[in-house]
Amino acid sequence: MPRFYLTLMILLLAVSAVRAEDQMVYSYRGKTISKEQYRALIIAKDAQLLVRNNRVAEAITRLEQALALDPTLAEAEINLGNLLVRQGRLPEAIKSLRHAVSGQGGHLEEAWINLAGAQASAGQSADAEKTYTVFLQKFPNSKYRTKIIETVGALQREQSNASKARENSQGPETATVTDYYNEAILGHRIRWQPDQMPVRVFIADGTGKHGYQPQFRALLKDAFAKWQAASEDRVTFQFVDSAPNALITCTWVDDPKVLKSTIKKGDTKLSSLSGALIKANIRLLLGTGGMNDPLMQFTALHEIGHAIGLQGHSPNPNDVMFFSANAGHRNHGLTPRDINTVRKVYAADLFANNVTADHDTGVAELEAKNYAKAMEAFLRVLKARPDMESARVNVGLCYAGLALQCDQAKDFTNAEHYYTEALKIRKLLAQPQLLNSAVQNFAAMLRDRDRNAEADELDKQLK
Ligand SMILES: [Zn+2]
Repeated sequence: MPRFYLTLMILLLAVSAVRAEDQMVYSYRGKTISKEQYRALIIAKDAQLLVRNNRVAEAITRLEQALALDPTLAEAEINLGNLLVRQGRLPEAIKSLRHAVSGQGGHLEEAWINLAGAQASAGQSADAEKTYTVFLQKFPNSKYRTKIIETVGALQREQSNASKARENSQGPETATVTDYYNEAILGHRIRWQPDQMPVRVFIADGTGKHGYQPQFRALLKDAFAKWQAASEDRVTFQFVDSAPNALITCTWVDDPKVLKSTIKKGDTKLSSLSGALIKANIRLLLGTGGMNDPLMQFTALHEIGHAIGLQGHSPNPNDVMFFSANAGHRNHGLTPRDINTVRKVYAADLFANNVTADHDTGVAELEAKNYAKAMEAFLRVLKARPDMESARVNVGLCYAGLALQCDQAKDFTNAEHYYTEALKIRKLLAQPQLLNSAVQNFAAMLRDRDRNAEADELDKQLK
């Protein structure tokens, strides 16, 4: 199954509002901006915090408010598009991302990649391929190039229906291994996220399809319940009455040719965004091959396993997630290895993204003017990611903020110390203008202290 890799862009904001003399000056990325634009940025940052707290619907509202104030804020529009994708609102997401790439977001790689991903997830393979092609022309040196070329290849294969069944391959016996996590995640863990729980599941009515039996519906629901229990309720399900509201859909197929493999009893197509599953479509075969209750139960368990993020297969023939089509004759449920694997996929602590968490903490503290706490968080980010320019800028903004607070409290000695630290950081930046406000405020303070010559020297740095 082709998988689409997308990058969830984190809005790295370095906004500052500083008092130079008596008027407020708002700046973003070294440019002076209007009060409206400043407010839009603050609202967009607020949305980011809501996302961190899994309050996605509120974040969407906030981003829409930000865009009403400043329609050119491309990062907000891209983030909005990403959240709409995550909620399965693909047509709206595509509209947002299209708007972003045709405006100020045209130079942002993430906007193009996420537009193509949304199109692919919506089944618009030809559009997605076109968007990726434009991307490759526009960004010939992109670090995503190889991945996108691979994805285009996968899209083309999908369009020509040439996917190959791998059911015949046999793995080694690994009975002593307690899980098959590495085989299951295929190098890239994806799973349903806490804000998506309970995952909405739609089971189509198979009445009238050749070979359909009414009890299949209950068998399928039971299979969902078994995985939910195995995950210790880390992944939960809710059955809904219509497909458009569902994140997982289950449909019945009575023509084996549809599955493109004569030995398959079902298949599952997954879409994901930055490690978050956003859609899973399960198809189950009826009729031919003597579909009976145990086989349906087994096939349902296997395909639901894929639908909750166990993308690959177990090498052990006893497991439900083993890749054999003939396994269905066995009348058993999930094995301890199946259970251990799903628990590992949904483990809370595994691969916790500390860098993102620290960055968001820093942004929140910076916003609250708790500069010392903000600095601690950004220094942790820099320790893990020394090349992260935005974190360095933010450390500089923390020094500048501390300096301004000292200046206002008439503690000029410490103000000077902090301004000096901010200026040291400014010298390390690829875009030193991001810390121009520190230079301006330092110069203003020096002039107030009748140190005009030093202030003039600082002004020269701005040129
Ligand atoms: Zn499979």
